[in-house]
Amino acid sequence: MNKIKLRIRFLGDDVLRKKAKPIQEITQEHRDRLSEMARLMYDSSGVGLAAPQVGINKRMLVADIGSGLYKLVNPKIVKKEGQQVQEEGCLSVPGVCVKVKRAKKIKLEALDEYADRISVEVEDLLACVFQHEIDHLDGKLIVDYTSFIKRVKINKKIKELKKRSKDEELPESETKSCKLQL
Ligand code: ZN
Repeated sequence: MNKIKLRIRFLGDDVLRKKAKPIQEITQEHRDRLSEMARLMYDSSGVGLAAPQVGINKRMLVADIGSGLYKLVNPKIVKKEGQQVQEEGCLSVPGVCVKVKRAKKIKLEALDEYADRISVEVEDLLACVFQHEIDHLDGKLIVDYTSFIKRVKINKKIKELKKRSKDEELPESETKSCKLQL
C-alpha cells in the first residue's frame, strides 16, 4: 500500500472551498486514500470525513456512526424527505458548533471503492452525516448555515484558525466543543 500521512485541513485552506471533481476511474490509489481517511476519521473521533478535508479535491468520503464503515465515491443525493436539526461540529472548523437544518431522510447513489453502484436510503444521524460530507464536496461548510450575526461572533475564532491553518495539529481541547464531529 502506498502510504502517505494525511492531515486535516482547517477553515482558511482554499481546498475546503473548491468544488471537488468527480472520479472517472477508481484506482488503488483512491482505495488507499479512503483507508487512510477512515483511519484519520477514527483517530479524530469523527463520524465522517470528506476528501477535501485532507486536501484531496476529489468526490469521495468516509462515514461511520457506529453501524459500519461507508467508503463512497461520487455520492449523489437523489431524494430528500422531512427535516431534522442536529448540532454539528466539523473537524475542519474546530471549536465551532452549529445547529443545521437538513433533510431527515435521504436516498443516496454512489460507487463503492471497487466501482460497484450502490444505492442506500438512510435517515436521522447517518442522513445528517452524508449531507454534511457532500456539502464538503461542494465547498460548503457549517459556518455557511449560521446567521450573519453569529458569523460575526465566530469570525474572531475563524481568523485565529486561518492564521494557524498551515499548522500540523491543534490542541485537542479546541476540537471537542461539539459532540458530533464530521
Ligand atoms: Zn465537516
